[in-house]
Amino acid sequence: MFKDTTAYFHGRTAILATKHGKEQVIAPALAALGIQVEVAAAIDTDQFGTFSRDRPRCGTQEEAAEAKANLVLSETGADLAIASEGSFGPHPQCPLVPGDRELVLLVDRLHDLKLWGEVISLDTNFSHATIRSLSDALTFAKTVGFPSHGLIAMVSSDPIPNTPIFKGIKTVEELEAAIAALHPHSPDGRLHLETDMRAHMNPTRMGVIASATAELVKAMQQGCPQCGLPGFVATETIPGRPCALCGAPTSQTKAVRYRCQRCAHVLSVPTQEPLADPSQCYFCNP
Ligand SMILES: [Zn+2]
Ligand SMILES: [Zn+2]
Repeated sequence: MFKDTTAYFHGRTAILATKHGKEQVIAPALAALGIQVEVAAAIDTDQFGTFSRDRPRCGTQEEAAEAKANLVLSETGADLAIASEGSFGPHPQCPLVPGDRELVLLVDRLHDLKLWGEVISLDTNFSHATIRSLSDALTFAKTVGFPSHGLIAMVSSDPIPNTPIFKGIKTVEELEAAIAALHPHSPDGRLHLETDMRAHMNPTRMGVIASATAELVKAMQQGCPQCGLPGFVATETIPGRPCALCGAPTSQTKAVRYRCQRCAHVLSVPTQEPLADPSQCYFCNP
C-alpha cells in the first residue's frame, strides 16, 4: 500500500550530532536506505541540557530534538540531519515503573520533511540512591548493571554549585575515588548516586535508541499512496472491533488510520483480526 521512497534518500549524507556514540546504532540502520551518517562531534548538543542536570533541558523532548537538528543544519550547511533525545521517568501506562522514551528525528531540508521514530520502553536501569559508604554504593551498583552500565555521583540530587559531579564511573576504583572526593562536601555524610543515562555509558538505552531508529526507518520507507511523500504513518487508532459472540462494539482497535503530512490523504486499514474476544466485551463479560 506504500509508495517506494528510495529516490528521496538514496545516496545522501545525514549529519548526526552526538558525543555519545549513538552512530553505533543509527548509522547501520540508515545505511540500509543508502544514507551515509556523518558524526558532527564538534557541535555541543549538551547546551540543550544534560541528564546529570548540570544543564537543565529547555522545552519538551520534541523541542530539544528539533533544536539539535536545526543547529546541525545551520552549522554544517547540510540538508539532512538526525537528532536523538531520550527522557526517563514514570511509564505513562504503569506509573510505578520507570520507562525510557526515545525519539529519533530526521529533518530533511531538501524535501521539507520532518520524520520521527519513537519508542517507550520499560527496559531501563534508570534509578538513583542515597548512599553513605562504598559498600552502600556497591549494593546499589549491583542492581543497575554496573560496571557495564556507568554511574554518576554527586553530593545531592539537586546539584550544589561548586561541588564536583563525577560522570561515567565504570570501575570500583573510580567509584571509591568519587565517594572520597565528595564526602568533604557533604554536611551529613550522605551522597547521591544515579545511573549514567548517556548512550555510551548505558547499553540498555543504546538498545532502545536502536528500536526508535528502526521506527524512524519504517516511517521513511512508507511513502504516501497518493503523493509519494515519506512518513505516511499511523496517526490514530479507531476503537470498536465487534465482539465475536454478540457483535457489539468493544474498546479494542478496529482500524488504524494513516495520514499524509502534505496532501492530507487518509487511509483506514482494518486490523488483521476482525473480531474481538468476548472477554473484552462489555455485554458478554461485564
Ligand atoms: Zn500525500
Ligand atoms: Zn459480546
